[in-house]
Formats: sequence, C-alpha cells, structure tokens
Amino acid sequence: MRVAIIGGGLAGTACAYILRRAGLTPEIYEASPKLATAASGNPVGLYNPRFSMHRTPESDYYAAAFSLAVRTFERFDNIDHDPCGALHLIIDEKRRQRFPQTLKNWGWDSDHMRLLSAEKASEIAGIELERDALYLPEAGCVSPHRLCHAYAEGVRTYPGRIVKNLQNIEADIVILACGMAVKNFEEANWLPVYPVRGQITMVKATPLSAQLKCNLCYGGYISPARDGLHMLGATFQRWLDHREPRQADNQDNLDKLRERCPNLAEGLEIAGHRAALRTASKDHFPIVGALPGHQNLYVSAAHGSHGILSTLMAAHLLTDMILDRQKCLPDATIQKLDPARFSP
Ligand SMILES: Cc1cc2nc3c(=O)[nH]c(=O)nc-3n(C[C@H](O)[C@H](O)[C@H](O)COP(=O)(O)OP(=O)(O)OC[C@H]3O[C@@H](n4cnc5c(N)ncnc54)[C@H](O)[C@@H]3O)c2cc1C
Repeated sequence: MRVAIIGGGLAGTACAYILRRAGLTPEIYEASPKLATAASGNPVGLYNPRFSMHRTPESDYYAAAFSLAVRTFERFDNIDHDPCGALHLIIDEKRRQRFPQTLKNWGWDSDHMRLLSAEKASEIAGIELERDALYLPEAGCVSPHRLCHAYAEGVRTYPGRIVKNLQNIEADIVILACGMAVKNFEEANWLPVYPVRGQITMVKATPLSAQLKCNLCYGGYISPARDGLHMLGATFQRWLDHREPRQADNQDNLDKLRERCPNLAEGLEIAGHRAALRTASKDHFPIVGALPGHQNLYVSAAHGSHGILSTLMAAHLLTDMILDRQKCLPDATIQKLDPARFSP
C-alpha cells in the first residue's frame, strides 16, 4: 500500500517510520528543500507528558505517548537523546495543589514520577534549587531535527515539492501532516487550527550552570549543557505567524529563568536563537484520524507544544486505522482526537 505523507516535520516523518515498520510504503512530500525546517527544526526539544490533575482521555494520550517514546528513542543512536530526567519546579500555589493530585490520579509508580523536597531536587539537579519539584526520571531531551531524519531514513522523500492539490498525488492513502498548511487543502480547511509562534534561546554555559544534570521546567525550561550550550525555552504568542527571531523573546526566556532560578541565570550569555510556528487546535488537543467525507484521507496536526511525544503516538494510531487492526489507544481518547469533532 502506497501512503503519501504531506509534510516532512515530526508528524510526517513519525508516520513514515511507523508505517514502514508495519510493512507499508510511505513517501514524504516536503515543501522545503530539506526535512525538518519548520516547527520540527529545533536542535533540542524536551519530552514530557502534558500534565493534568485528573486522569482523562487526554492525559491517557500523553501518558501512553511518553512510555512509547522512551522505548522508541532508545533505538536510535544519532538523535542527541539525553534521558536526563526532568524536574518540574513547584513555582506557585496552583502547582503545589495540582502536582500531588496528578501523582495520585495518574497512579504512576514512584520509579516514574515522584514529588521531591527542594533539598532532594537539588541533589538530582546538581545545583542548588529553592523549590520542591515533581520529578520524572525518564523524561529527557532529543534533537527534533535529527529525530525527523532518523524517522525518515530509508523512506522515499520528495523535497521541494509543495503539494497544492491532493488529486495529483499517486497513492492509495494520503496523510496531511503539514501543520498550519492543512488550511490550504479544501478537504481540511474547516479544521480550527491557529499558529502559536515560539522562540528558543541558546545560552553559553557558566561553570555553575554546566553542573546542571537534568531538565528544569518552571513555566519555561532549561536543558543541561550540551557542547557548552543550554537551551532555554520557549515563548508563546498565539496567532502571531512570523518566524523572525526577536531580542525581546530571548530576554523573556532569560527573565523566566532569572525569576525561578536566579543562581543559574547569573552570567548566561546568548549564543543563538530560533523562532518557528506551532500549530494548535481550538480545544488545544491534537487532530488525528480520518477526515470525514473522504476515503483514505487522514490528518495528523495541531500537536502544539508537545509534538515530540504527540506525533509518535499519532503515527501509531493512524497506522492502526489504516491497517484496520486493534487500536493502541482507548476509544474515548480516539474520539477526542477525531477530526470529526470539529465537523462543520
Ligand atoms: C520554539 C518551539 C519550541 C518547541 N519545543 C518543544 C519541546 O520542547 N518539546 C515538544 O514536544 N515540542 C516542542 N515544540 C513543538 C513541536 O516542535 C511541534 O509540535 C512539532 O514540531 C510539530 O510537527 P509538525 O510535523 O506537525 O509540524 P512542522 O514541523 O511545522 O512540519 C510541517 C511540514 O509540512 C511542510 N508543508 C507545509 N505545507 C506543505 C505542502 N503544501 N506540501 C508539502 N509540504 C508542506 C512544511 O514545510 C513543514 O516542514 C516546540 C515548538 C516551537 C516552535
């Protein structure tokens, strides 16, 4: 079965990877001359489930995606994978109430998620922290850019091909995995997606910050130094759709760190930046499944700020749907993802 995938970011390449492993023949059409040049082009990204206080169909998606990603990333040796763990700092009263509830309701063993005092968190981080934290030892970071290339290895790719009309594509099945550009196809232009601009900032490690051993998340995030550089992320600007980096955004990323971990922010120098557009949906949940009213047409989009996990889970679900086999997610979650929830 030939499957044409429109878009060569994480959503498209993850589909290609899982479909190929299932014995199908995916082909990627990418508008840019190279894969992973848009939202998926960052050199570092963090993978964490999206937390919710209660166990819901949505949280089931991220919980399943997390365990899937942990196992999948181990297969690659060229994606800058660092399973360094993540400390989610308790920076406000909301998180102080919410995190214990998350822990209780998600029911994860303490090997996978636990609350730590500031003292214990500091031991794990390798630097002094003033706040208690929720700790996920299996979280980490990866290069989304490299991950796209690893997923696409051995897959036929058509770079520089801007698909304008699905009728011209020769394939049994088509998957739209092109972020905001789903709006350009009449079959999908009713999907309520919008851009969320984001910018990451690379900073040079100081002797103190170089000791950081895991990701710190505090509304923003900082990753451990790699080749002398940390990644600070990320800004959020809904509906803004330009990709020019802005100094003000670098300052925002630094200010967030300075507010939460002043010792760590001391003396950090900006070494680079990158801005891109996330795609989000009206209900802030990804859109994954068959497009209603069309035969053999699927979509994987609106992965928001958790695309590393979300796109891999989506790829598994679409593969199950295409092969008409038992689904990897509960029905309630599949319904929440279904594009038909927005049917006009
Ligand atoms: C600043 C920033 C920081 C982020 N940090 C994290 C993080 O730490 N962890 C995390 O999990 N997620 C993070 N994300 C989110 C994550 O990067 C995205 O969710 C993910 O990259 C979305 O992948 P995608 O394939 O849907 O979109 P994209 O990567 O945008 O890919 C879509 C592709 O489709 C192509 N395309 C468009 N139209 C056409 C057409 N007509 N024909 C052919 N090709 C077409 C585009 O050229 C593009 O390559 C971050 C995003 C940003 C912007």
